[in-house]
Order: sequence, then C-alpha cells, then structure tokens
Amino acid sequence: MSDLYAVMGNPINHSKSPQIHSAFAEQTQQDLIYSATLVPLDGFEHAVQEFFRNAHGKGLNVTVPFKEEAYQLAQIHSPRALRAGAVNTLKRHEDGRIYGDNTDGLGLVADLTRNLQISLSGKRILLLGAGGAVKGVLEPLLAEKPAQIVIANRSIEKAIDLAKAFSDIGNVTGCGFAQVQGYFDVIINGTSASLQGDLPPLPSECVASHTQVYDMMYGAEPTLFMQWAKQQGAKAAYDGLGMLVEQAAEAFLLWRGVRPQTAPVMAGIRAKLLKPAAV
Ligand code: NDP
Repeated sequence: MSDLYAVMGNPINHSKSPQIHSAFAEQTQQDLIYSATLVPLDGFEHAVQEFFRNAHGKGLNVTVPFKEEAYQLAQIHSPRALRAGAVNTLKRHEDGRIYGDNTDGLGLVADLTRNLQISLSGKRILLLGAGGAVKGVLEPLLAEKPAQIVIANRSIEKAIDLAKAFSDIGNVTGCGFAQVQGYFDVIINGTSASLQGDLPPLPSECVASHTQVYDMMYGAEPTLFMQWAKQQGAKAAYDGLGMLVEQAAEAFLLWRGVRPQTAPVMAGIRAKLLKPAAV
C-alpha cells in the first residue's frame, strides 16, 4: 500500500495541498497518496492520533487553526518549530514519535526573495497577524536582516508578546492596527481576515508608491487585501500561492528526502485557479 499523507484544517475545502503534493509525487516518482481532512475544532488531537495509528500514515500538514495545537502535540521539534511555537508539518519519526517542523517561513522567504525578487535587507516590514503563520515566518524574515518588523494584530497583546519573544534576533515591535505609523517597504498579511472576506483596518498612510504587498491568502481573484493595497497606490500586490507551493516543497523534502521543482507546479495550480469551473 502507498504511504499516506494529508492536510488537516478547518475549513479545508479551499486547500490546494493535495494537488501540489500529488504533482510533486508524480514529478519525483514517489508512491504516495495525499488527501485533505476537515477536522472538528475540538477534534485535532484525536484526528492526528487516528492518522498515525495507521502504519502507512507517514506525515501531515497542518493549517488554520491548528498550528499551535500541532506544536503541543509534537513530541520532537525542529529548532525553527521550537522558536515559532507553531508547527505546519508533522512526520512520523523512525522511533514512532511525532516530529514537528515549521516550513511556512522558508516558503514565504523563498517566494518573496527568489520568485518575486523582493529584497528584504534594510527594509521596513509590516507583518499583520499574530497566529501560527506569523509565528512561523518571523525567524526566517528576521534572518534577511530587515531594518524593522512591526507586527500588528487585532488582539494587541498577542502582537506585543510575539515581538518580545523575537526581539533578541532583530528589531521587532508589536501593536494594534490603529497604532501602525508611517509607511512600509513591504506589507505582509498573515491574518485569516481574507478567509472571512474581511480587511484589517489599517491607516492608508502605511502604503507608499514603492510599497510591495503580500497576502498569505490566495485565490482565483486578487484578495480583498491586495485590492485594498492597490487602491492605496501600492507598487505591487501578490497572493500567497507561491508561499504555499514553496512551504509544501520543504515539507515534501522532509518526508521523502527529495526536493521537487516548484515553478511548474506553481504554474499548474495558478492555471487551474484561473480556469472557470465547468457549468
Ligand atoms: P491562526 O488562526 O493561527 O491566526 C489567525 C490570525 O488572523 C490571528 O492573528 C487573528 O487575530 C487574525 N484574524 C482573524 N480574523 C481576523 C479579522 N477578521 N480581522 C483581523 N484579523 C483577523 O491562522 P494562521 O496564522 O495559521 O493563518 C493565517 C492566514 O495565513 C490564513 O489565511 C492562512 O490561510 C494563511 N496561510 C497561508 C500560507 C501559505 O502557504 N500561503 C501558510 C500559512 C498560512 P486574533 O489574534 O486577534 O484572533
């Protein structure tokens, strides 16, 4: 029987992870089955244990809102998962224990710097949100040596606490949306507001004509946040499809020991997203 992998989240029907990992498997000739599982909000631990009870269950991706729970559940952590306090990739370790990693940050930085050619060094970055995704991207973002990262979140305390937890490795501060001051070179939306068709209430002055905006969310249409940024005069606005494919490639490497090529998979998923559904 093939090795089994899955992504767990709630909601999950928007997930492109099964398409991406199936494409990676085909490209690298790996024998595996990857599916998407909708998990009840109070049922994550049970779902993970059931999955790994099956001897063929080798690895999981974890998405909204379970990344912090996945961190608690993992029995061994990669250094970057430890630092993030959030896990997006679980793997059955050779000794049977569950290993937790976080590949979100590597995925984001690869997409920004390699695919989109956005340099982060010396830049002023606004990072929106303080959930699992933002925790996962902070260390790799700070490793790019930006001048400053301002974390802004709806629950202000979470932004302040998160900034404190990372202040030993860079210039990072936390605040609420209304306290955001000045303009930024790069704005990254790591809230799940777009999932609910919502917009973080930011002062329009934070967008300048050279500002590049990135929404971790993605879809067939530019997200509400990307549309807002363009209306404020941003130079460019990108969605998170590239991050998704790049973080998936890191997870695939961890699970299978082989790094897939991301560009053709990204192009394939984008083309499918843009194709109108059959009527
Ligand atoms: P979490 O549930 O852990 O965190 C959600 C965050 O969004 C919190 O900071 C929360 O604020 C904030 N938020 C939720 N609703 C609103 C709203 N209506 N207005 C303003 N802020 C809001 O989710 P994750 O961190 O795991 O994921 C966040 C987003 O990033 C999701 O859209 C997810 O799809 C996307 N993502 C994309 C990836 C990619 O590869 N492209 C990878 C990872 C995530 P509060 O603390 O106040 O509740």
